[in-house]
Amino acid sequence: MKKAIPALALSSIMAFSAHGAENKNFDYVVDRFADIEVLRYEVPGFQELTPARKAMIYYLNQAALVGRDIIWDQNCRYNLPIRTLLEGIYTNYKGDRNSKDFKAFEKYMKQVWFGNGIHHHYSTDKFVPGFSQAFFAEQVKALPEKALPGGYASHQSVLDELVPVIFDPAVMAKRVFQDGTKDVVANSATNFYGPGVTQAEVEAYYAKLKDPNDPTPISYGLNARVVKEDGQIKEQHYQLNGLYGPAISKIIYYLSKAREYAENDAQKAYMASLIDYYITGDLRKFDEYSILWAEDTKSEVDFVNGFIESYGDPLGMTASWESYVNFKNIPSSKRTEIISNNAQWFEDNSPVDPKFRKPEVKGVSAKVITAATLGGDAFPATAIGINLPNANWIRAAHGSKSVTLENITEAYAMASRGNGFNEEFVIDAPTSKIMDEYLYITDMLHTDLHECLGHGSGRIMPGVDPDALKEHGSTLEETRADLFALYYLADPKLLELGILDNPDAYKAEYYKYLLNGLMTQLNRIEPGKDVEEAHMRNRQLISKWVLEKGRKDKVVELVKKKGKTYVKINDYRKLRDLFGQLLGEVQRIKSEGDYAAGNKLVNDYAVKVDQKLHKEVLDRYSKLDIPPYRGFVNPVYTAVYDDKGNITDVTISYDEGYTDQMLRLSRDYSTLAKKACCGKK
Ligand code: ZN
Repeated sequence: MKKAIPALALSSIMAFSAHGAENKNFDYVVDRFADIEVLRYEVPGFQELTPARKAMIYYLNQAALVGRDIIWDQNCRYNLPIRTLLEGIYTNYKGDRNSKDFKAFEKYMKQVWFGNGIHHHYSTDKFVPGFSQAFFAEQVKALPEKALPGGYASHQSVLDELVPVIFDPAVMAKRVFQDGTKDVVANSATNFYGPGVTQAEVEAYYAKLKDPNDPTPISYGLNARVVKEDGQIKEQHYQLNGLYGPAISKIIYYLSKAREYAENDAQKAYMASLIDYYITGDLRKFDEYSILWAEDTKSEVDFVNGFIESYGDPLGMTASWESYVNFKNIPSSKRTEIISNNAQWFEDNSPVDPKFRKPEVKGVSAKVITAATLGGDAFPATAIGINLPNANWIRAAHGSKSVTLENITEAYAMASRGNGFNEEFVIDAPTSKIMDEYLYITDMLHTDLHECLGHGSGRIMPGVDPDALKEHGSTLEETRADLFALYYLADPKLLELGILDNPDAYKAEYYKYLLNGLMTQLNRIEPGKDVEEAHMRNRQLISKWVLEKGRKDKVVELVKKKGKTYVKINDYRKLRDLFGQLLGEVQRIKSEGDYAAGNKLVNDYAVKVDQKLHKEVLDRYSKLDIPPYRGFVNPVYTAVYDDKGNITDVTISYDEGYTDQMLRLSRDYSTLAKKACCGKK
């Protein structure tokens, strides 16, 4: 599970503790287009790592980059040929690069890179090209044959197939379709399901496989495309000799190289187990790996590389390929270690029915990490916190690892300084002041609590299907984790533990959270559309619920000042009580698998948008010129070898631009995209 960055962009960060001084000259912004800003992030402490740790990171970085094509193909089966085509046009173009059509083409290509395909990474809507079909056709026809995507017999066959995919709004309109009143599988463009497969068929297929009494079920469908062959539903597995084999073989190669530099036997063991899983595609082996990985809390260098999160699947089962390479930020980890050492206290005192609490919280390990490489679905847009593994029974029996990506959070914050957000949206000077002083730390604490305790808390009643909440599973899980974090942010326990030094600090995060959930996150939504993404739904669900339930006591209000709407919190203590009440109910829904109640909660609070308020937010935002979405380019690592071919050092550089990086990745790390020379004719 991951925690995404909320839409709110932090402005002036006064309580900035990290290594601010050396950062002054670091240039965070790399590129800007459409609704996107691309940043770079610094990797403080990399130079000081031991040569072995640097070498390990180098090979893990390679293992992250060679998997890139997998997520492109998973997102939509036309993504790789379209990428080849766009990059071919871009590099071969002989005309005026300042023409309107070419500029629009370049913007579209940058959007496609950012979405790892033709759909927006967040809304999952298909991008709308700003250039004409005629311009596009002309450019395709001018391409040398070797620049065409593989598998097409001629320039014309490329146009015949791909023009509707790019230009026709009705074709492949949405990557993840979530309107539960229609078939979410048939209406999604994701390549997790083959052509002609229906939701009913997929559900029937897995219902037959699942044993409700199995206490340690595999994660059904996690690494499989479901297809229909001769009328039969079957799975195609992602494995060495299966789907994505050419990419997986390179991942295995680099993981094996990285393993030579592993820090200890526990790390060696989980890496061997991961490789074994990649070879066989056996989900039992994935569970074995996940347990070994969760239990290794000693290694400083750590990574995720695999099919992990299932937000991209309308049914929440099949996972997108991603990679995070990182190392521990030892000073900042003290904070999360205190929290995880007290996990049982938080569980025992949570405002949920005791029968839904975990009697024994197992090994929630939490650390703050420095991201060194983002890959696959975590690139260019990334989460700021992760908690894995996802399987409930593994979390209960073996614990989980929760991480906060501090150098990423810091890059977001640094790039947002002085952007005028607070002045426009925050109701008054005292609220602004507490946010200036405490938002950075309480925001990180919110991530720590969400990941480390929230996702790990509570228990599911025996016999309840972990997928019982169906299309609302992700939203309600995120709701639960956020509520847990919100509830405890205001707890005196945090002062007692020495994590916060002001009993009012939590107000900074409370205000930001409601402002975001009620208003400012609407900036990410196009006029007329509903809220769809799981984290956004969760934030609106919580915010609207407390607004409504607190109406009688005026706990929270939306007030007007000079024609502008503001969030006004009148009673922070009662607000905390409301968060606690909702947490109790959401935990009950999750524990009992109460789909009907979950469905009602989501539909009543999480989805619908007040059109008038939406327009106001968009208008006010547009004056500020703050990009709704941000992501990153990776630093570039270069290995220094001795004459025997061993790595003696690894250097890091930050100067590569967005377009250069994307073109280099496609050129040097393409494992699945075929050029015409190797495609069938
Ligand atoms: Zn989460």
